[in-house]
Amino acid sequence: MFFERLKELQQKNLYRQIKDRASPQGPRIVIDGRELINFASNDYLGLANHPDIIASAIDAVKEFGFGSGASRLLGGGAALHKRLEDKVAQFKGTEASLMFNSGYSANTGIIPSIAGEGDIILSDELNHASIIDGCRLSRARTLMYKHRDITHLSALIRKELSLSDSADGRFIIITDSVFSMEGDIAPLSEIYNVCLALNSEPRTQDSILLYIDDAHGTGVLGNGRGALAHFNIRPEPWVIQMGTCSKALGSFGAFIAADRDVVEWLTNTSRSFIFSTVLPACIAAASLKAVELIEETPQLIERLWRNRAKLVNGLRERGYDAGTSGTPVIPLRLGGLEDTLNMSQHLYNHGIYAPAIRPPAVKEPLIRITVTAAHSEEDIDALVQALHC
Ligand SMILES: *Cc1c(COP(=O)(O)O)cnc(C)c1O
Repeated sequence: MFFERLKELQQKNLYRQIKDRASPQGPRIVIDGRELINFASNDYLGLANHPDIIASAIDAVKEFGFGSGASRLLGGGAALHKRLEDKVAQFKGTEASLMFNSGYSANTGIIPSIAGEGDIILSDELNHASIIDGCRLSRARTLMYKHRDITHLSALIRKELSLSDSADGRFIIITDSVFSMEGDIAPLSEIYNVCLALNSEPRTQDSILLYIDDAHGTGVLGNGRGALAHFNIRPEPWVIQMGTCSKALGSFGAFIAADRDVVEWLTNTSRSFIFSTVLPACIAAASLKAVELIEETPQLIERLWRNRAKLVNGLRERGYDAGTSGTPVIPLRLGGLEDTLNMSQHLYNHGIYAPAIRPPAVKEPLIRITVTAAHSEEDIDALVQALHC
């Protein structure tokens, strides 16, 4: 039944294969018995294999054991989960926070809790797949606006407001803070201003929500506090920030940071929170330690941005353009699927791991380079060199 379909994927060069490491995650990884310089991880600060984080996780295993045994509401949580939530809320400057098992389960659980039939979601066309799935599950009317296009976003809202049957629905604007494939940053100040304007109109007052997926902003932008801090935007009661512990924090899981009412509502209604076993306490311990390290060690983020600048300069000198990227995620467009796959293989042959990203993850194939704080100058030089020859 699936044999022909798999063959079709292979013929179209869309067949993917898992490549597992024989080493920890980091700037150098071992795959198929070879050490490769790794430009494919989201471990932006090099924390995934940090000794303090490992020690925290081990201590937590000793104190709380491994398995968590139940959902949070049924006693699966440990003191560490709450400690992490308090820390995240303080870090983000919000009243409260709640852990989710992953970014995927956060988006698919939260969006249907805050948007439903009769509501209107406005979603950037390049939002992450988990947002798209969350919107589908919500049954709200979902309108896609053109990527980072505030004029289009505003026009869609105006049009909806002019329709009589939009009588009392809520408007929920949803955007990635940093887009995971392009590495560009959402125009959050402008989006925030659109929300402010709507909040001062009688029809839309108290019916606007702004939901930000800060998966790639957390630990990277705003001294690690994320995109809102980067833009100096206050976390208003109508702003909901979601973030992940699985990328720059080098851990696993996700969180929501928002007003207490929002957090209590999600605790009571979000299906991926209610109907899933909570993450083990050692994962919460690792995430907590990561946030502490980010606060205590500003050099980590400085090194990340220094490495990013070095790579972008190197690319530019070789005639590569970083597109609209404003972050350590840099898309390299090399033409069609075949050229992209060939370049990825070429890099692999030169000891560099940078797999091609292809449809359906992206419309046009690309090599998604992620540079981290853990890369050495030599690592970055090696990539630039290999692209050239
Ligand atoms: C990675 C990612 C997610 C999913 O997070 P996981 O913790 O890996 O499930 C959600 N949103 C965005 C924008 C992401 O890049």
